[in-house]
Amino acid sequence: MEGLDALKDFLQARKNIVITTHQKPDGDAMGSSLALFNYLHEVHNVQVISPTEFPHYFGYLPGCDEVWNYLENPNLSQIAIAEADIIFCLDFNDIGRIEPLDEHIKANTKAKVVMIDHHLHPKINTDWSLHDVKASSTCELIYRFLYLLDEKYTPTKEVAVCIYTGILTDTASFSNGATSQQSLQITANLLDCGLNIIYVQEQLNQNGREEKLRFIGNALSRNMIIREDIGIGIIVVDKKDAYRFNLQTGDTEGLVNYPLTIKDVKVAILIKQEPKIIKLSFRSKGEISVEKICRENFEGGGHRNASGGRSFLSIEETIDKIIDIFTKEKLV
Ligand code: 5GP
Ligand code: MN
Repeated sequence: MEGLDALKDFLQARKNIVITTHQKPDGDAMGSSLALFNYLHEVHNVQVISPTEFPHYFGYLPGCDEVWNYLENPNLSQIAIAEADIIFCLDFNDIGRIEPLDEHIKANTKAKVVMIDHHLHPKINTDWSLHDVKASSTCELIYRFLYLLDEKYTPTKEVAVCIYTGILTDTASFSNGATSQQSLQITANLLDCGLNIIYVQEQLNQNGREEKLRFIGNALSRNMIIREDIGIGIIVVDKKDAYRFNLQTGDTEGLVNYPLTIKDVKVAILIKQEPKIIKLSFRSKGEISVEKICRENFEGGGHRNASGGRSFLSIEETIDKIIDIFTKEKLV
């Protein structure tokens, strides 16, 4: 496929479309996938497939009930991928981020692959891509993409709420460095399309469980290590806590940010024990790049101020490794 016009031509006739996004999808991953789903499904046969489970609190996004979790639905997912004419890869650019879907996508060599993403260092072979690391979110790029497809396009209420969700969550409610004039301008335009900001606030932040709040309190009071001498704060979530507080997918979202509220903490790290690996989340202030640290030490990546990775060591060894790295980094 050569260029946008070829993509537009390709989408003229009804196609089998698969939309996928990264494991444990966040607001931007779910929002971008469902914005595109709501746009395309009027004309095409579209299936959104998440490689893993996704947080229940995204249930308010239109179309969320139709998203398949690959782990629960591997057979039908494999058929949909094998029959796809075009596969949209949203909010990731490293095929390892969609395990165990990756091998099935690679196996469909006839499907066109379109990537829309805003992470650093893309590593996917595509037929067409919209990649901009300056974009606040993949949702911002979906907004741009829909206008590229049709310059007279006006988002529906359904598309608007999906796009807003990704912009809101990836900018940490318009507070981090991803916040830009475009992200605010798009949000203002979405208000004209019927977006209800209070409704999203109620769904995302006022709809939780007591156990989750108690879990956060416990994590902050008992499982947080603050090392102002080297400029870092670490929060650990082990399997025992996950069991004790009946942790659900998405319950640790945002937890990593708390150590950054301390003046001399420049980098915050969440260490989360998962069945086979330790998942790491990094957040940083200002110019400090946690993307580089994740890429070089933890098989990960992301953005300068928000990245993730994994460790195959024990929790204690992972903490030691992180302390060792930041002792050498000399943040303070
Ligand atoms: P989070 O800490 O919220 O899971 O992720 C922060 C950012 O880093 C997100 O943009 C996410 O897509 C990216 N990220 C998280 N984990 C990984 C990983 O293992 N590999 C890569 N390449 N990116 C990751
Ligand atoms: Mn994103």
